[in-house]
Amino acid sequence: MSFFFNEVRIVRMKFLLSLIFLAFSGAWLSAQQQTEGSRFSSGKIAAGTDWETDYYVVDSDHEGPTVLIIGGMHGNEPAGARAAEQIRHWPIVRGKMVVVPRANVMALQAKTRLTPGQPETSKNLNRNFPSLEEPNRMRVQPQGELAKALWQFAVKVKPDWLIDLHEGYEFRVSHQPPEGKEKSVGSSVIYQGSGKMDALAKRMIAAADETVSDPDRKFSLIRSGPVSSGIAGACIRVMGAEGLILETTYNFQPLSIRTRQHRAMVNVLLNEIGMVEVDCGQRIASPSSSRPIQVGMFDGEGTGPSRENVVEVIRAAEGMDVHRIGAAEMSDRILGQFDVLVFPGGSGSKQARAISEAGRLAVQKFVKNGGGYVGVCAGAYLCSSGYSWSLRLVDSKAFTGTVEVPGKGKKQLWYRGKETGIDMELSPLGESLFGQKGIPKSFEVRYANGPIISPHGLDEVEDYQVLAWFRSENGQVAEQKGTMINTPAIVTSRVGKGRVMSVSPHPEKTPELHSIVSQAVRWVAKEVEIE
Ligand SMILES: [Zn+2]
Repeated sequence: MSFFFNEVRIVRMKFLLSLIFLAFSGAWLSAQQQTEGSRFSSGKIAAGTDWETDYYVVDSDHEGPTVLIIGGMHGNEPAGARAAEQIRHWPIVRGKMVVVPRANVMALQAKTRLTPGQPETSKNLNRNFPSLEEPNRMRVQPQGELAKALWQFAVKVKPDWLIDLHEGYEFRVSHQPPEGKEKSVGSSVIYQGSGKMDALAKRMIAAADETVSDPDRKFSLIRSGPVSSGIAGACIRVMGAEGLILETTYNFQPLSIRTRQHRAMVNVLLNEIGMVEVDCGQRIASPSSSRPIQVGMFDGEGTGPSRENVVEVIRAAEGMDVHRIGAAEMSDRILGQFDVLVFPGGSGSKQARAISEAGRLAVQKFVKNGGGYVGVCAGAYLCSSGYSWSLRLVDSKAFTGTVEVPGKGKKQLWYRGKETGIDMELSPLGESLFGQKGIPKSFEVRYANGPIISPHGLDEVEDYQVLAWFRSENGQVAEQKGTMINTPAIVTSRVGKGRVMSVSPHPEKTPELHSIVSQAVRWVAKEVEIE
């Protein structure tokens, strides 16, 4: 056995620092940290209740506006919550930014627009805030516990600007609803029209439109103002604040595009009112030195639904956070914010095409400079070496070719049939890395045509090390028989200063095997060492 293996030991647990940092007491402000001149603190809203949710304050310590940014009011609109989670790390140079990324934790968990288990009157959270629109039916009190807690918080913050991040189901500009149904508000800025605000809103949608080429998906302005019983409407009417709702569209496009659009719009606003002095639209990961491992997972063309399992596994694992990134994020500047990149299941060649040659070069450079790479199934094809489009991060080639099957025509040999269970066995190295997380030596794993690899014989890439073997196989034609059993299922290699983990099967689909994925992330992030 050559490089850096022997026994596993945790070298750094930098996330412990951030756990201490996060151990607040439920007071308004308790934990603090200094980055780039701004003061970061955090606390909880509705502490100790089912509604408990985190808020974050970035204080410049200089006079200026107070902006309150809210995400996750509706649980089926995840982009706002994710974008707010990213925005809360931005360096504020004037005024104060307060962010509540996950306003409605229960609805977000249930992935539903309406809050589960709530009475008819209060289940749409964004219709429960004080409304002064019709003086005779004036509702001064917010309805329901959560709206009450959020409103109390907003009153305390006393924002000059309230930004509420939402998503619609269709692109407003091109949506053609059936008779009698209203157009979706997807991809729009909703605000109270005025000369000053029109100009600002136009600049905001221009920034969001920069990454939109399809005219049917461009952003719209909705000048009639936010719904009066929503939190933006309430802040406008009750507090005299400026209030905007920023909508992306949750159907037809990956989350990375939608969070990018939210960031782009908020970036224009914060620059416009002098709160940030740099372009923050592409700031995604936490820049803090005590941050958890920052994982960027590709969610663009060529990724399949199993990426959602990968996200959930990484999010549930200790000491790491995952952000979805698309082809537009495959640049040195943006990848440099991450510790680890993950390419999930789907199609390796389509992912390669989606990120284009420039993106592939950026990923290779990222790893050579010390970044980590985890590829699962399609992502394992992508990091191999046999194809014109592959990243050549692992000195492996995938079993491939075609055969003529009488009566059935040409068959691709990489295709072995529908997803199925395959026996797998850890190597001694695999046992030392995964065994400490309770993974047994032998088990069954879901398999969906991941690469069947063998050494490719490149000089410039170090030989891979095997962490697990396939101990059974599937297949459809005689030519596949015996080609999978006893071949490597998981391998690792080192490229420049970086580490790569290539995982052919889908351990993220089996709860008992989730720690294979999280341990792979820790390994390539150099959080664990095998000497
Ligand atoms: Zn909404």
